[in-house]
Amino acid sequence: MKLSKIASVVCPSPTLTMASRVAAKRESGVDVVDFSAGEPDFNTPDCVKKAAVQALEENFTHYTPYAGIYELRKAFAEDLKKYKLDYDASQIVVSNGSKHALKNAFAAILDAGDEVIVPAPYWNSYIDIIKMCSGVPVVVKTKRSNGFRVTVDELKAAFSEKTKALLINSPNNPTGMVYSEEELREIGNFAVQNDLFIISDEIYNRLIYSKKLLHCSIASLGENIKQRTIVIGGLSKSYAMTGWRVGFTASNTEVATAIANIQSNSTSNINSIAQKAAVAALTLAQDDAEAMLKQFEHRRDYIAQRISDIPFLSSLLPKGAFYLFVDVSKLLGQSVGEYRIETADDVAEVLFDKYNVAVVPSGAFGYEDHIRISYATGMRDIVEGVNRIERFVKENF
Ligand code: PMP
Ligand code: GLU
Repeated sequence: MKLSKIASVVCPSPTLTMASRVAAKRESGVDVVDFSAGEPDFNTPDCVKKAAVQALEENFTHYTPYAGIYELRKAFAEDLKKYKLDYDASQIVVSNGSKHALKNAFAAILDAGDEVIVPAPYWNSYIDIIKMCSGVPVVVKTKRSNGFRVTVDELKAAFSEKTKALLINSPNNPTGMVYSEEELREIGNFAVQNDLFIISDEIYNRLIYSKKLLHCSIASLGENIKQRTIVIGGLSKSYAMTGWRVGFTASNTEVATAIANIQSNSTSNINSIAQKAAVAALTLAQDDAEAMLKQFEHRRDYIAQRISDIPFLSSLLPKGAFYLFVDVSKLLGQSVGEYRIETADDVAEVLFDKYNVAVVPSGAFGYEDHIRISYATGMRDIVEGVNRIERFVKENF
């Protein structure tokens, strides 16, 4: 019996696959340092947990409106005002994490064969989500010399009459890079001129390491840009709430209605208790989120310095998110014991097999010669993991 075409093209998430390899190795008793999945090690703030317990005790356990409870949609709309975004609560659809928000967004705008321009390095799931929605990802490789940010000239080169949308992710996973307002304005104008949707994944909007640099949303740069943008967001990263599965889309009313309709026939509302918890996160947990941001910044400073002190490795200093994208090209073309190191995949494999450090090779992000280190993990692991990487390089190169 034959499965669908989609079933044959969709790959397992490489980040989550690496995370499950770590779990398997740990079960067999090995001390693995896990720099793979981008998941904060912090616990969910207490005020959020209390709100969930209260929701349960009050029997808030029934279906809710499928686009989310008004209180939460309103809280997300209020939160977006920090970034000069003015959405009505009715234009917010609450989804099962931002991954699901992305799926909803692409399902709402793509017909079979429509192309979506995706700058690389990209977060791995974009490609498979676009394919699951019958779209065609058109990958544009950005340059390290431009801080891995896509330029309008690069977008022009990727544009065709089938292009329906372009994707922007700032702050970026896996590079930690942040677009300037000017760059976003140029990209927004390009979308307006060519009548494209913009999918703007802003899940890391709160994780920016500079008081002077407030997150800039492309949708805040003019009404004509906002109308064609679907902002993607969620609580996983900034509030240590990965398991709760709370994300959202913010868009014009026509798109929001389509997304809500799609969701009403697929997952319905997200977990009712998680919705109450999410309201608490947005309204009561600002200090907790700020404290986590400070910790991430401290970790970034430490790990970026240590990695840059290791011979043959280099990376740009991340401005946001919690990833370091490390150039390993100088290690390629050599042998380490029985291993031949030709690609970043081989580097990651040796680190995992022989040094018990899990990183994600850049092939997962549509790029070569790099590994991604997630520093959303505790300082003990960061220190130990970097020591092991240092040992790997010094012993073999
Ligand atoms: N977008 C980006 C850029 C991510 O790194 C992630 C990682 N989890 C997601 C979306 C999805 O997050 P979640 O579904 O937990 O909200
Ligand atoms: N987004 C995180 C990462 O990039 C979590 C894993 C995933 O959802 O794929 O590692």
